[in-house]
Amino acid sequence: MKQRYVALPDSLYQVIQPSKVEDPSLLLFNQSLAAELDLPPQLLGKDAAEYFSGNQLIAPQLSLALGYSGHQFGSYNPQLGDGRAHMLGQINGYDWQLKGSGLTKYSRGGDGRCALGPAVREYIMSEAMHILGVPSMRTLAVTTTGEAVYRQQPEVGAVVSRIGRSHLRIGSFQYASSLGVIKELADFAIGQLCPEVLDADNPYLALYQTVQRTQINTLVHWYRVGFIHGVMNTDNVALSGETFDFGPCAMLGEYKLEQVYSSIDQQGRYSFDNQKGIMQWNLARFAETLIPLISENEQEAITVLTQELESFPNAFEQEYAKMCAHKLGFDQSDHPLIAEFFELLRTHAWEYTQIFNQLYDWLNGDNVQLPDELSDWSQRWQDAINHQQALLLMRTTNPKAIPRNHEIEMLIDAAENDQKDIQQQIDNYFNHLKGNVVPGTSWGNPNIEFDHHYQTFC
Ligand code: AMP
Ligand code: MG
Ligand code: MG
Repeated sequence: MKQRYVALPDSLYQVIQPSKVEDPSLLLFNQSLAAELDLPPQLLGKDAAEYFSGNQLIAPQLSLALGYSGHQFGSYNPQLGDGRAHMLGQINGYDWQLKGSGLTKYSRGGDGRCALGPAVREYIMSEAMHILGVPSMRTLAVTTTGEAVYRQQPEVGAVVSRIGRSHLRIGSFQYASSLGVIKELADFAIGQLCPEVLDADNPYLALYQTVQRTQINTLVHWYRVGFIHGVMNTDNVALSGETFDFGPCAMLGEYKLEQVYSSIDQQGRYSFDNQKGIMQWNLARFAETLIPLISENEQEAITVLTQELESFPNAFEQEYAKMCAHKLGFDQSDHPLIAEFFELLRTHAWEYTQIFNQLYDWLNGDNVQLPDELSDWSQRWQDAINHQQALLLMRTTNPKAIPRNHEIEMLIDAAENDQKDIQQQIDNYFNHLKGNVVPGTSWGNPNIEFDHHYQTFC
């Protein structure tokens, strides 16, 4: 049974309801997610916009804002939290959270609101990731509020409905640790995400191990499709391994490992290539919070957790190598042609998505021109692989299309310019991305480990 967040020590949250908005209107509704969720009837009726904007609540007593801390670009901020978001409860065991729904005690200087552009961006990116087989939170709805939000200029206000298995973050553990309630939060997280670890000799160690494995799985998917999160602060890493907080994220174009998209990331801390190192760093922050739970002997706890953390690079490399092999149609990770190809890819900075599609088409006998620099490599590659198997592996590992920034910007413009068919335009865009995925066969495990079924709206 999924636990409610109100069962946590009350120092970890504020019971608070969304602020009402003037004139809510449902702009986007994710039918395919809705079909999977078995929504309460209120969310499908004529008052849907009232519920998706937070003007009406199904379970007002469950509405709350969660506190968390976080290392932002490496500096610790002890007091963050849902400054513009409200957790409303669970649907089918998934958290339903509104974002842009008003002030909370964690708002600091912010206005508690969200502008339409970022809301539409989150709607598109989160679903695109899901379509590409990457573990991700999803967006059920976007409503406009009828109120202006002031950024550089006045913008249309919006409220996002975010759906995820858990909104606990590494930053939630840092917060709980600072408040002396780490055991309560860890027990809650285990109950929420991985009750099976209770059978382990040391459930808290098993929790850590499960989280590390899950994060590695997600990371490898990011590298598979060329995703750059952009702001991998510890408060933006969900314990569940679901990708979320789609701020300045972007997809890799040319294969440049040092690529950064966030304008605030001057040092390149969160570049494409650094993401694995940063994840390990973030996991170290998570591990620190668990020290008192792992053993009564602090030194022993540190030794055990350090050992786990030190296993990260190898564990990651193993999964990563398998994924790279599959991108080239090999089922064995150690074929020398794989490293050779990635070396060429780095040297020539080919377009990351396109080059694998070109290789696929070429292998498939289509009339495509490979870059000259691949002429020798491609002959040897062709001789080394099993064609049928390679085509299947490549087809199910490499996205044929990815959500590109200029396409998303066009859709955001359409939404901001009040184009009436925006839902249709975005649905068509999703179909374009979907058309490229062979259902049920994407690489690796698109479903994260934390996969349990619960009752509707507890
Ligand atoms: P982010 O950069 O999106 O991870 O957010 C970092 C922190 O700033 C979180 O605690 C957010 O809740 C808070 N925050 C971001 N935007 C706003 C806003 N408009 N109003 C209040 N808090 C905000
Ligand atoms: Mg955040
Ligand atoms: Mg954000």
